Amino acid sequence: MCIFCKIVNKEIPSNIVLEDENFLAFHDINPTRKVHVLVIPKIHFDSFQVTNSDIMRDMTKFIQQVAIELNIDKSGYRLITNIGNDGGQEVSHLHFHLIGGEKVGRLVR
Ligand code: 5GP
Ligand code: ZN
Repeated sequence: MCIFCKIVNKEIPSNIVLEDENFLAFHDINPTRKVHVLVIPKIHFDSFQVTNSDIMRDMTKFIQQVAIELNIDKSGYRLITNIGNDGGQEVSHLHFHLIGGEKVGRLVR
């Protein structure tokens, strides 16, 4: 079972921001910004590339709710999902990074 499935099952503890029947939001163990939260579906998909539009529609609403919960919906934030090797994905369970709480800076090469 993957590490994020274990977090879903509470076999590994996490600092939860918001949870419902289908999704979980928790603080990243190694935050890169003042706010760094991971949002995952409870059902396992390897990445965004192999998810389906039904779950993504519901996940959109959940992520918006997480931003409100964190009080960064007005100030703004960056939403990232890394996909596969070139994308730099380390955990093979679909997740969105929600980073903010400060200016996150430009995407630079
Ligand atoms: P990726 O590189 O796959 O897009 O991001 C994986 C993220 O998961 C990283 O930011 C890493 O810090 C975070 N992470 C890895 N293991 C754990 C864990 O056990 N608990 C939490 N809360 N975050 C984790
Ligand atoms: Zn998983």
